Formats: sequence, structure tokens, C-alpha cells
Amino acid sequence: MKIGVLALQGAFIEHCDVLKKLDAEPVEIRQHGHFSSHLDGLIIPGGESTVMGKLLRELKLLEPIKDAVFNGMPVFGTCAGLILLSKQIEGGGTGPIPVLDVLVRRNAYGRQLGSYRTTAKFKGIGEVPMVFIRAPYVLEAYGGAEVLAMVDKKIVAVRQGAVLATAFHPELTDCIGIHELFIYGRT
Ligand code: GLN
Repeated sequence: MKIGVLALQGAFIEHCDVLKKLDAEPVEIRQHGHFSSHLDGLIIPGGESTVMGKLLRELKLLEPIKDAVFNGMPVFGTCAGLILLSKQIEGGGTGPIPVLDVLVRRNAYGRQLGSYRTTAKFKGIGEVPMVFIRAPYVLEAYGGAEVLAMVDKKIVAVRQGAVLATAFHPELTDCIGIHELFIYGRT
């Protein structure tokens, strides 16, 4: 199982480490030639969504990734990755790979109170640790988007077909269940 991990910025090394624990092979995507539509999936890590969108365009990675995702490549976005996959961003616009039927709010917890750790129930897995870093959250999930987790009545994880997205960073905790769900469709 070869899983691409977008390695432009953010916590991509941690995602690679979780993949290795699950016997999957991470493939770091840093430039155009690294991406292939034959990968078994793609992880889009956290970072800064506007910067990542710009880099994806500049590196000519956006179109091939978009094509692959729209053709069914499984994709898992964490934090900024969730924003990149959203069909609607509060205040206008869409993420550059708009596949998720969600309206997302960026930097939803304010600048000062931006980072925290908690635990909450995740559908199909149970209680999981969650690390939020200047995180977005989903204001509305509609259409095909299924809510998988909520914190304080706010949607923090969704799935739509082969697309999985969390507002938090599972790769910064010792929980491998969400990656397992992504790769193998189960935990
Ligand atoms: N605040 C960032 C953004 O809007 C996301 C933060 C993160 O990925 N940890 O892109």
C-alpha cells in the first residue's frame, strides 16, 4: 500500500511515521514528478491552507492531484488539509480541491486560544485524542458528507466516500486508528 503524503509544509513526517506503523509505505510528494495517480491514497497535512494552495499551483501539483481525487483516489486531509478539500470556505471561495460538501470556518478558535488538546468520540473508533492547532471547524456538512466527530457541538471530522478530513491532528497523538480507517477502511 503506497500512500502519498504532501510534503510541502506542516507535520508530514509524523503522518509518514503513522503510515509505517500500519505497514503502509509513505511517498513524500514535494514536486510534480513525485505524484502518481497510481498511489493508493494521499494525505494532505496541516500547515497554512493559502500557502499550500499557492505551492500546489506553483509546483504544478494541483491539477494532477485534483484529477486523481475527482477520479476516486482516497484522500485524507488534516487541519489545513480539510480546508483545501472544502467546497465552501466561510467568507467566500472554495478549497483548491473542492470535493467535500462542507462549509468550513478557518482559524475557528481565535488566535490566542488557537491550540488545545482534548478527547472525543469518533464514529467507528471510540474515544480518540485530538490536537487542534489554529484549527478550522465545519460549520455545515451537507450532501454526501457524513459527520464522524464533534467537539463542543462543532463538527471536527467528516467523511464523504473516499475522502476523510479532520480539523485536528491525529498524527500528533499516539492514536493510529484514524489513519487505519483511512487506509484499510476499518480500525
Ligand atoms: N490555520 C491554518 C489555515 O487556515 C490551519 C492550521 C493547521 O493546519 N494546523 O490554513
